[in-house]
Amino acid sequence: MEKLNQVLLKEDIRVGADLQAWLARGGGEGLAKALSNPDAILAEIEQADLRGMGGAGFPTHRKWRPVAAAAAGDKYIICNGNEDEPGTFKDRFLLEHTPHQVIEGTLIAAAATRANHVVLYVNPHQPLSLEMTRQAVQQWQTHALLAELERLLGGPLTLRVVPSSGLYIGGEETAVIASVEGTFPFPRRKPPYPADSGVHGAPTIVNNTETLAHVPGILRHGAQWYRALGVAQAAGTKLYSLSGDVLRPGLYELPMGTSLETLIFEFGGGMLQGKEFKAVFTGGPSNTLLTKRDLDVALDFDSVRKRRSRLGTGAMIVVSEGSSIVRKVAEYVSFFAQGSCGQCPPCKGGTFQLMRLLNRIDTGRGVRADLEALENLCRILPGSGRCGLIDGAVTVVDSSLHQFRDEYESQLMA
Ligand code: SF4
Repeated sequence: MEKLNQVLLKEDIRVGADLQAWLARGGGEGLAKALSNPDAILAEIEQADLRGMGGAGFPTHRKWRPVAAAAAGDKYIICNGNEDEPGTFKDRFLLEHTPHQVIEGTLIAAAATRANHVVLYVNPHQPLSLEMTRQAVQQWQTHALLAELERLLGGPLTLRVVPSSGLYIGGEETAVIASVEGTFPFPRRKPPYPADSGVHGAPTIVNNTETLAHVPGILRHGAQWYRALGVAQAAGTKLYSLSGDVLRPGLYELPMGTSLETLIFEFGGGMLQGKEFKAVFTGGPSNTLLTKRDLDVALDFDSVRKRRSRLGTGAMIVVSEGSSIVRKVAEYVSFFAQGSCGQCPPCKGGTFQLMRLLNRIDTGRGVRADLEALENLCRILPGSGRCGLIDGAVTVVDSSLHQFRDEYESQLMA
């Protein structure tokens, strides 16, 4: 097993809500450096090639720049800690064990963009995350660095915790904004993008918790240090939530670009009870499945995209030979059907119909026409919703149909 170079999960920084302990371990140095030269923060984040860790891998500096460039006035930084999809458990760990790292990242983002509102949006179904974040925020309120940030802003900064809706759809960025405004988290069409019109019409950045947790280290040690943590061209480290049929499931922080094979067979200890590897639901169960021929893929945003899938949140749900892909897909599509907010009829009706057809096939009641209906829905549903939920549900069905068609066929009634 190769030597770990952990940044986010180091044991000695798991200090919970104890701000003094965080500061004693070098916490606060990133924010202090940022405040000493706030106009250089964006360039540092760009040089580090920090990407959004919530799914899309969008360059963080490109999300921050339009808000930094917006006219002075109310601006919002939202840390998205809604995390709710199957197989993903990284943000929860960060908020429970090292919330100051995340909060310091939000304060650096506020300094870079001159945002005067910071919101920690935390899933209430994870009560320890919520409690730790609340305690941690309380401790920052009277800290000298916060006062220094307010001098930079020329006025007060609001730093608060908002419990999220706890719904899967509540993690979509426009739904996050609706929630912070106090309404039901209905996603809305873009444009306008949050950077132009977010919370109450103000320029807004919604960043994933892990993304923000990387920021203090980048400012403290420099962009080159961060880049060098990754493999080849990939920058930094990544949290991978490993679950399913592996010997040692868990949360792993590894260099960005670590291969899928290394994650599963070295760190994850290999397959359970000597079972054969079959496939991985990657980045949460809404992407194209990776199979045996993809074991060599580097787990970074660009390399996984070249295999027509997405790294997403870094969740890897491993499936062994002998486990039913149809059943897994039926379970995940059921999750999406229940998570649909109902605004777009093709999504509400489409996910329900996908679920119904998958369940028929999985329970041995399916006929060839059901398989054809599944394929037809996979053709007509993409792009029919206001957010990505329907596309995610279709992607996993379509991918499984292409890669495991024999399995579907074998479960049809004669
Ligand atoms: Fe809601 Fe589905 Fe439409 Fe997204 S695609 S807004 S989840 S109905």
